[in-house]
Amino acid sequence: MAIATTAKDSPQDAAHTSLASHNDETSAAELTDGFHLVIDALKLNDINTIYGVPGIPVTDLGRFAQAAGMRVISFRHEQHAGYAASVAGYLTQKPGVCLTVSAPGFLNGLTALANATTNCFPMILISGSSEREIVDLQQGDYEEMDQLAIAKPLCKAAYRILHAEDIGIGIARAIRAAVSGRPGGVYLDLPAQLLGQTMSALEGEKSLVKVIDPAPRQIPAPESVSRALDVLKGAKRPLIILGKGAAYAQADEDIRVLIEKSGVPYLPMSMAKGLLPDTHPQSAGAARSLALKDSDVVMLIGARLNWLLSHGKGKTWGTAPKQFIQVDIEPKEMDSNVEIVAPVVGDIASCVCALLDGMGDDWASPPAEWTDAISAKKETNLARMAPKLMNNNVPMDFHGALGVLRTIVKERPDAILVNEGANTLDFARSIIDMYQPRKRVDVGTWGVMGIGMGSAIAAAIETGKPVLAIEGDSAFGFSGMEIETICRYALPVCVVVFNNNGIYRGTDVNPTGGADVAPTVFVKDARYDKMMEAFGGVGVYATTPDELSRAVNEAMDSGKPTLVNAVIDEAAGTESGRIGNLNPQSVVAKK
Ligand code: ADP
Ligand code: MG
Repeated sequence: MAIATTAKDSPQDAAHTSLASHNDETSAAELTDGFHLVIDALKLNDINTIYGVPGIPVTDLGRFAQAAGMRVISFRHEQHAGYAASVAGYLTQKPGVCLTVSAPGFLNGLTALANATTNCFPMILISGSSEREIVDLQQGDYEEMDQLAIAKPLCKAAYRILHAEDIGIGIARAIRAAVSGRPGGVYLDLPAQLLGQTMSALEGEKSLVKVIDPAPRQIPAPESVSRALDVLKGAKRPLIILGKGAAYAQADEDIRVLIEKSGVPYLPMSMAKGLLPDTHPQSAGAARSLALKDSDVVMLIGARLNWLLSHGKGKTWGTAPKQFIQVDIEPKEMDSNVEIVAPVVGDIASCVCALLDGMGDDWASPPAEWTDAISAKKETNLARMAPKLMNNNVPMDFHGALGVLRTIVKERPDAILVNEGANTLDFARSIIDMYQPRKRVDVGTWGVMGIGMGSAIAAAIETGKPVLAIEGDSAFGFSGMEIETICRYALPVCVVVFNNNGIYRGTDVNPTGGADVAPTVFVKDARYDKMMEAFGGVGVYATTPDELSRAVNEAMDSGKPTLVNAVIDEAAGTESGRIGNLNPQSVVAKK
């Protein structure tokens, strides 16, 4: 895009000039600037959405981007724009872009960048920054901060662009760094001066780079594939664990065929739920403990042996000797906790394809003794759960409320489910079956609270599908203001707040009898539904499973921004949900 004179043009002028410049030959005298080169470089690489918060020095960048036909989604806080960008990256395999102002805005976005890196989601945090000369001498510029240095340890790669002619290559580098190999977060530092720099439009256009094959296939070594198959073949009680890396890889059909051809029971990690429908006969989801404990060979596909899998050792995994096969793009992931006897390093699509080839046509299913034991355990557990999900208690408990939402998701398998909280997360994860890949977005590897509204917004924008966000009242509080964003863009998002008056429970008391409530307690019977009404959305106060069902169905049908305040028994939750073991408790009782 070429501009007539300086960076001070209004977006309309710029758009106008650009139209003109497409008609004529771009003449040598025409100029472009940093703003337009950034936009042109993103668009050239099919990045057409920016999540961000405007302000100094990137306000015009957002304006010009919109004028150039990009979708610019403005948030109320950078952290949520950042979570949105990372979820966009997870859902699309293209880096989601988050745009922030300098220092405090950058720092607000940094949490999301670190979270993206931890979760292996591709995103690029682009922040405006102060002038290098002043920052380096600490002379006190507006929002002066050495952002590049701060970002570096928290992301996969960090770059600063100082000259307009480097914008093309800088953005190409950022894109490649985000999506190639193990995906992650990339920081791109754009000093204010860069955005206003001008150069010849012709030279500018030539300087742009369209990234060729941004995430090249990584074919596994043939011997690693046959080694893995030999180990799997020798198993008496094999198990496959699918992680969110497998969901990210978009090799859905081949993964289904691999599972079915192998006959091996599988466990989906939380965000891999739905890769195969949770109702699949080989799913060991409802017999998780038994499957982990008694298996003798475990094949991990895009899942790490981190805390979510008890690091591959200890009580969770039982005492029987166990062998691990791991399929992952990151060679350093192998042997990170326990010995991996058969590492298969490559991209999941290529690895699964090679495994399928190697299995041939006469692959024998695992012994029936093992698969029957898992099926029997599943049936017992599911039968025990069923009546709880149909209870009509008022106030509602987690099971009664989630039983209703479970049916709604079953009837709308293409809706996206966003889920965060403590008890609200744990119960929803095990109760709500998913039926399609990448339909569940949750707190991820860090178990972070606050991903809710950003994730819901990205899911709606990127997929156009209805979104159901099931939120603990505490979790919702971290990003609640973004319901204004949801209303502003009229997104088809239904938020259900599980309101039990507090964190874990609403029943704690201040032991001193003082006026302050306990640290885990909120305002009793808060009306989150009225927040949604304040912005023109639909607010519903639901006290029974019937009311909840009606409200959510209506919201999913209408696509109108809706918040359902679901009143949950304030005594129903447990401390820290299912990870109370991570929350140290004093054994010294103080009177
Ligand atoms: P979960 O939390 O669901 O267990 P993790 O985030 O722990 O999943 O693991 C995801 C793994 O998937 C990471 O180790 C990452 O390197 C890997 N991964 C991500 N994308 C790919 C891909 N396309 N091919 C192979 N491995 C991938
Ligand atoms: Mg709560």
